[in-house]
Amino acid sequence: MAVGAMIALRGELGHRPVGPLGRALATRAANLSKMLEARGPISPDAMSVEDARAIMRTFYRDNGRADGRDILSATGKMEHSEGVAVGINLRPGAASGYEVCTMRTAGCTAACVLETSARGKWANVRDGRDLLTEFLATEPQAFITLLAHELRTLVRKHGAVAFRPNIASDLRWEYIAPELFSIFGVRGYDYTKWNPLKHRGSLANYRLTYSVSESPLSEAIGAAYVKSGGTAAVVVDAPKHAVPAVWNGQPAVDGDATDDRTTDPTGCYVLLAVKADGKGDTSGFVKQLPLAVAS
Ligand code: SF4
Repeated sequence: MAVGAMIALRGELGHRPVGPLGRALATRAANLSKMLEARGPISPDAMSVEDARAIMRTFYRDNGRADGRDILSATGKMEHSEGVAVGINLRPGAASGYEVCTMRTAGCTAACVLETSARGKWANVRDGRDLLTEFLATEPQAFITLLAHELRTLVRKHGAVAFRPNIASDLRWEYIAPELFSIFGVRGYDYTKWNPLKHRGSLANYRLTYSVSESPLSEAIGAAYVKSGGTAAVVVDAPKHAVPAVWNGQPAVDGDATDDRTTDPTGCYVLLAVKADGKGDTSGFVKQLPLAVAS
């Protein structure tokens, strides 16, 4: 039996071909959040860590790699966050063959820093993210068991961990594996393009920052969320750490000072300086500073 077919049979959600061939054959990307939500909630402890490791080993070896890898990584400004901040680096958009950003727009896709930064363009980085995405899609139980094990290990070592499940995705983890946010010492956070007032669940230990896109509706959702005490991120055409302290009449913080969004004040904007291919944005995703601030 072909390797791809073996994995598809073994995987709990493996109803599509996997591996490079599978990606090439896929005509319409499967929505990974919906797939996992339908399977959830997935308890991390429904499988032993040893069994999960064995499944990961087999998966990675079948795909021509060594035994496996850590699920969690720290990238970019997460390395500059106070304390330990870690997250999951899937392949953004639908490039892996799975759609991981249901609400993405043309503007954010073109400007996506995870895909258009120098490192995000490296073939080996993209391949690694593709494979991790495929591992989550086809072996969600093993993925989540290993993820919880890594979080618990980090908490034992560091005392507390800031956890961003969607570094380069927008999966609704509160429905997929809510127990992850009950792990002692873990505080969760994410950016999301789902309307948090309507389409995201609410977990006390999982803080969501709405991510404003180029659409006027999105700007209105962001404003309503900030007024309700939430936080909304806006990418602005400004140098790093030179963003205004007020946006749209509300207080604003420098979103590049740290990646950890769990400590932001309530009811404020989070301003992020434009990066990578976002500097060529013409969609309106990147906002111009008001003239009084820019001059
Ligand atoms: S939703 Fe976020 S991660 Fe996904 S393509 Fe847009 S900017 Fe990138």
